[in-house]
Amino acid sequence: MSVAEPGDHDHLREYEESLTGFAEALQDLHIHCDAPTFREIETRAKAASRVTLSVSAISEALNGKRLPSIDFTLELVKQLAGDDPKLLQEWRQRWRLVKLRQRKAIPQLRAKKRSVIETRTLAPPDIENLRTQELQYHQKAELLREKVARLRAEAETTESLVNEAKAEAQRIIKAAKAEALDMRTKADAELIKVREHAAELLYAADEALRRSQTTSGEASPAARLGRCATLRVVLVGPPGAGKGVQAAFLAKYLGVPHASLGDMLRSNIVQGTRLGRTAKKLIEKGQLIPDEVVLAMTEDRLRQHDAQRGFLLDGAPRNVGQAVAMDEFITLDAVLDVEIPEEETFQRLTGRRVCRHDSSHVFHVVYNPAKSYDTCDLCCGMLYLREDDSEGVIRSRLDVYYSDTRPIIDHYRASGLVTTIHGLGKVHEVTERAMEALAGAIA
Ligand SMILES: [Zn+2]
Repeated sequence: MSVAEPGDHDHLREYEESLTGFAEALQDLHIHCDAPTFREIETRAKAASRVTLSVSAISEALNGKRLPSIDFTLELVKQLAGDDPKLLQEWRQRWRLVKLRQRKAIPQLRAKKRSVIETRTLAPPDIENLRTQELQYHQKAELLREKVARLRAEAETTESLVNEAKAEAQRIIKAAKAEALDMRTKADAELIKVREHAAELLYAADEALRRSQTTSGEASPAARLGRCATLRVVLVGPPGAGKGVQAAFLAKYLGVPHASLGDMLRSNIVQGTRLGRTAKKLIEKGQLIPDEVVLAMTEDRLRQHDAQRGFLLDGAPRNVGQAVAMDEFITLDAVLDVEIPEEETFQRLTGRRVCRHDSSHVFHVVYNPAKSYDTCDLCCGMLYLREDDSEGVIRSRLDVYYSDTRPIIDHYRASGLVTTIHGLGKVHEVTERAMEALAGAIA
């Protein structure tokens, strides 16, 4: 539907431009002549001339809608600016120029007119098509609206579900907190009972010591040991000999700290020291702590203020190499060798039952049985046999003890430091034995 052919396009544009210029000149003249209303001009012309200047025609001429006739143009100029022959001649000339351009553009104007008509005749099917499209869009829009409504409803449902879940979670947390508090209260009560029991045991042990002191006539082992300037003692013994328990009691009676390798490891790991970090990595890999780490931790511990007078070292040294290296930084007063038969090690360790809830809840099927066979008296957790306490593991622990640790006894015996006691019997009986042995060795 091209309006302009190549080459004759300019005629139409030139005509349209000249028409616009013509209309603008008329507007200028109108404004220059005090811009009378079109109605006024129409009335004036009606009275003075046979040429009709209608309001709509004046509007069309001033807006450049079409080129008015020469008579119309001259009459309009006359009505605006008065009967000035020179001005009228100018406008006649101006009109002719526009008219000339209009003539040249006639083929294009015709084509344009045709195309407008074609567009109009083509319109109905297009409109039909558009109507169909519009209808389709409406339908689509309707579907989308429904979808949005559906999604919104779903979102609301989801939100209410989430809210319900949140409320439920809060209820559960609240209940769990209450339960935990209850359990803690109960555990605290149990702990008090255990402490009271421990205090009773200690009292009994104290009593026994006092009795041994008064009956022996001479100064008691405790008194003799109390006069010693230093009490640097290493405890040695097979697994299950009760070194830890004895060390704890002896520490209390002798006023020197119980330095256990287990505690050193734990405190170094908790404090995140360089040694602790190294040890932690190795433990996590299931590897053995190397001698230099054991020695460094031990040296650190024994240099602490509370260990200046003495200590009860338990868990180190573990082999002759460590013992020799330790001689470099510490002079010992005694090595307490706690002996028990192998069967006893097995009976003691395989009889141990540990609580799944708390590994500090330890029972023994013979020495400290739980009230119910497999339930913890303290927290009702399940009791079980630790992997470490299974017969196979105990066998290999014993083998390591005899091959690696036992030889340190010979190393220390050479310096006359070793004193051996039997680890069998009640705890306080063994403690009394140990005190006697140490007093004999040191004091
Ligand atoms: Zn428990």
